[in-house]
Amino acid sequence: MLNIDLHCHSHISDGVLPPAGVVARAAANGVDVFALTDHDDVAGLGEAQAAADDAGITFIPGVEISVTWSGQTVHIVGLRIDPLNPLLSAGLGDIRVGRTARAQRMADDLDKAGIAGAFEGARAYAANKQIIGRVHFARWLVEQGHAPDIRTAFKRFLTPGNPGYVEHEWTTLVNAVSWIRASGGMAVLAHPGRYAFNARQLHILLDTFRALGGEGIEVVTGSHHPSEYGKFADLARAFGFKASCGADFHAPGEGIDIGRLPALPHYCKPVWLDWPEIEQLQAKN
Ligand code: AMP
Ligand code: MN
Ligand code: MN
Ligand code: MN
Repeated sequence: MLNIDLHCHSHISDGVLPPAGVVARAAANGVDVFALTDHDDVAGLGEAQAAADDAGITFIPGVEISVTWSGQTVHIVGLRIDPLNPLLSAGLGDIRVGRTARAQRMADDLDKAGIAGAFEGARAYAANKQIIGRVHFARWLVEQGHAPDIRTAFKRFLTPGNPGYVEHEWTTLVNAVSWIRASGGMAVLAHPGRYAFNARQLHILLDTFRALGGEGIEVVTGSHHPSEYGKFADLARAFGFKASCGADFHAPGEGIDIGRLPALPHYCKPVWLDWPEIEQLQAKN
């Protein structure tokens, strides 16, 4: 059985390890096939590909695109994308410009709540200055003693109704799926269990996503409780989606580690069903 992990982050977005460090960790954990899926940027994929080649593990270029759908933020993972595709690059570039403006508004909101200097503080935690996210704010808020840990920082700040949370319009679902497809990739709905949609809204999202060309949903992810795997495996089957899996690793000691999730339920059709690089590996194993 191959160990396959198709969702994780480096310091190009809100992870802490450089891309080569993430690959080294995947290799150390016995991962055979690995995708780097940084938020809204593909700048880490070259370094990760080279490190994976050296380590002898199969690398899948990926991205996790921030989308606003029906008033909520939804994440779309692109797998087997071409990072050089101009439509994808331009689209992600626009998201990053919006992200920086959002970070400024978040800092202004914290300032109103009596917490000054958050933009510079969060920015210092971002290795990639084009991707300043809520996790960078959370790390700085912890450093400054406003919260004991990241989880509490999100609870007290950075979430709806709390200081540091601002509404933001990401790109559209149509755009995200079309950029991924234009670059030759497969669009996968990330962690469907994490959204605050009711069952009806979730079904509409799944129908809409499939109609636009979405091909998979995450079933086994660090963002789902193990008791949810069956529900999303069933939804994948009912809606005709392939199933994906990935730890959504960000940092050592935070959440699930790379390659440490259980296998997909046996009745799932995995996203890699027709990927030649995996067929080759399976033939060898
Ligand atoms: P952003 O794209 O800047 O809105 O940040 C979203 C990221 O914040 C997610 O990808 C997670 O890494 C992290 N995140 C979201 N909610 C939480 C939470 N409640 N606790 C810890 N991390 C969170
Ligand atoms: Mn993240
Ligand atoms: Mn996500
Ligand atoms: Mn993620």
